[in-house]
Amino acid sequence: MKIGFFGGTFNPPHSGHMSAAAAAIKQLGLDKLFFIPTAVPPHKKLPDDSAAGIQRYEMLKEACKDIPNSEALDIELRRGGESYTADTARELKAQYPEAELWMLCGEDMFLTLEQWYRSDWIFKNVNIAVFARNDFAEKKLARHAAQLASDKGASVELIKSEPVVISSTKLREMLKNGAGGEYLSDGVYSYILKNRLYGVRPQPDKLWKLVEPWIKEKRRDHVSGCRAEAVKLAVRWGADVLDAENAAILHDLTKGMDSNEQLILCEKYGKIIRNIDKDDFNVLHAFTGAEIAGALFGASDEVCSAIRWHTTGKADMTLLEKIIWLADYIEPGRSFPGVEEVRRLAYTDIDEAMKLALGMSLDNLKNRGIKPYGATFDALAFLADKGE
Ligand code: ATP
Repeated sequence: MKIGFFGGTFNPPHSGHMSAAAAAIKQLGLDKLFFIPTAVPPHKKLPDDSAAGIQRYEMLKEACKDIPNSEALDIELRRGGESYTADTARELKAQYPEAELWMLCGEDMFLTLEQWYRSDWIFKNVNIAVFARNDFAEKKLARHAAQLASDKGASVELIKSEPVVISSTKLREMLKNGAGGEYLSDGVYSYILKNRLYGVRPQPDKLWKLVEPWIKEKRRDHVSGCRAEAVKLAVRWGADVLDAENAAILHDLTKGMDSNEQLILCEKYGKIIRNIDKDDFNVLHAFTGAEIAGALFGASDEVCSAIRWHTTGKADMTLLEKIIWLADYIEPGRSFPGVEEVRRLAYTDIDEAMKLALGMSLDNLKNRGIKPYGATFDALAFLADKGE
């Protein structure tokens, strides 16, 4: 039996780690590859905004779902203290005495191996699989491998895999700016959003992929239209484009749920509903959508608030709240008498657009015999006062 292990901080695990690991499993014919997150890495200091050990372990469990024969192991976390590879390899050797043991590492780690704790023991007892982290490293690695073989009797194999040029450090920076999702599996990305790790801001395309299954097919064009309109409005009025795009993507998250599901969510998130009648059900999805967007999809408070008020409006709305309210009202799929005038005003005088549209919306509800939610009157009254 051939067993591999791959240690690191995995803060977070990314496609550089995972594609190298998949190539090693294939090339070496590993029966099992263990990913082992360090407790305290001896070679580097964890930055202040790091994920906790248990979170790095849970992210690895998510990432392993995409790599056959792989598994995350928490042995270094359980052992605690500085994580020495020699101790880990000894533990694995005791557990799998018959196995041929392979240690995976990237070039940066490989080039410092001789300075590791009990490296001579490692060279004698463990085979080493090394992969390049960029296109120019192969020659250097081959030279070092030959030297370790002759000086230390080490058994080293170079793994042939297309390098993915990324590091967790670079990726953490990208995540703060609504980027980097392409280097993460969907499961890891969801985990990061849900736990709001690394100051992440959702990346619209990646967010849409996660949100799409929540949106009924017939509503997807509307959400896409709203997304495009929100971006245009944000650009026009100088609002945060990323927040606007994400709020639009998330605004109808729970609309496909029936009233019972909505009420269960309200209870779960402590939203108290007074005067429960059928009319209020029309607005519940805005409240529950805001809660779910924050709890599961890493939406900021500003984005959640724009989702919360996108159906009713309210007094003293922020620019982002107005943009989402209007984008929902005028997106390209909407066609009803008066929408063209709201569209024109939305790009020339946003408050006038809101006033006209709120008034039209109240009239429409009245004609349909629906009692409007109080906050809509407040929204209109606030803007009318402001205009006087
Ligand atoms: P950081 O940027 O936080 O230092 P890192 O991306 O270098 O992190 P670690 O989790 O510390 O990743 O690394 C674990 C192991 O994975 C190391 O052996 C490292 O060389 C290797 N590794 C990291 N990134 C890549 C990559 N893009 N391609 C191949 N191997 C990688």
